[in-house]
Amino acid sequence: MAVKYEFIKQCKQSGARLGRVHTPHGIIETPTFMPVGTQATVKTMSPEELKAMDAHIILSNTYHLFLRPGHDIVKRAGGLHKFMNWDRPILTDSGGFQVFSLSEMRKITEEGVHFRSHLNGDKLFLSPEVAMEIQNALGPDIMMAFDECPPYPAEYEYVKQSTERTSRWAERCLKAHARPDDQALFAIVQGGMHKDLRIQSAKDLTSMDFPGYAIGGLSVGEPKHLMYDVLDYTVPILPADKPRYLMGVGSPDALIEGSIRGIDMFDCVLPTRIARNGTTMTSNGRLVIRNAKYAEDFGPLDPNCSCYTCQNYSRAYIRHLLKADETFGIRLTTYHNLHFLLQLMRDVRQAIMEDRLLDFRDSFFATYGLNDNDKGF
Ligand SMILES: [Zn+2]
Repeated sequence: MAVKYEFIKQCKQSGARLGRVHTPHGIIETPTFMPVGTQATVKTMSPEELKAMDAHIILSNTYHLFLRPGHDIVKRAGGLHKFMNWDRPILTDSGGFQVFSLSEMRKITEEGVHFRSHLNGDKLFLSPEVAMEIQNALGPDIMMAFDECPPYPAEYEYVKQSTERTSRWAERCLKAHARPDDQALFAIVQGGMHKDLRIQSAKDLTSMDFPGYAIGGLSVGEPKHLMYDVLDYTVPILPADKPRYLMGVGSPDALIEGSIRGIDMFDCVLPTRIARNGTTMTSNGRLVIRNAKYAEDFGPLDPNCSCYTCQNYSRAYIRHLLKADETFGIRLTTYHNLHFLLQLMRDVRQAIMEDRLLDFRDSFFATYGLNDNDKGF
């Protein structure tokens, strides 16, 4: 078995669980946040910097690496770890989500998805078998089954057909997976916002005995209370001895609420994407560093942060760099935002250890502030 989940303890106050995921490239302490390295790089960060902020695992995107440079080149380079010089665990998604969100002229059939590359219009095809071939070539520790992520909102009948197909595709992925001894294949529970479809999806997939389970199709524009409802009735169906991964979620409130509901792993482009626009997450809430009021603010981004950026640079300097389009400014905000979420997860793990995650949530939001909208961060 490529990946093994070790349960450490459950928080008596919240029900969240503390654990470890053992992989061929090391141990992931959970609950954990995975920085996203779409094109075999976490934008602007070196592997050394990611290690300095103690990222245990990163995520990379099958769709992007399939289009460019191509999985054969990555394989010939010795696999993704070697290609990008990252020797800790890697998870790759299946390409499904990007096919549905980025590519043009998609046509979904039972066999797979025909689409055009968003880069050059090339006609391409992804199926469960192709997604496995690509991820077997890339060589991540954890790979994801090829699924369809239905849009939100979507008609019940469409979501039903799509979810049933995702289960059939999961079975084909299991069969096509060529390296089960050193790569763990996780299945993805779909079903939109429909309770019966979510439960059916979770039951179908758990009967196939995957080494881990993700919950997909959330954080796609629905109000957060709907996402939490789905977690409330889906997570309990998933096996307790396997890792649980909530896909595409990375706002501080959702990381805490997801942990409380028994999620072990999260990923999201949010911290890196907003960093490039000059938006940062701080212990006092969201801070837009480009604002004029920071022009002569010589204090750190977040006085409560121990990261490289906050220990060495001022708000005024970072604002100046971003205004002047200097890439170092983006590096500094990216470093801080990733460190902020990784520190948040360290705090979450400590709070679980000490049976006080609900208290931690309340004190975190007392200074972070509540969202100004349901989908915000
Ligand atoms: Zn910082």
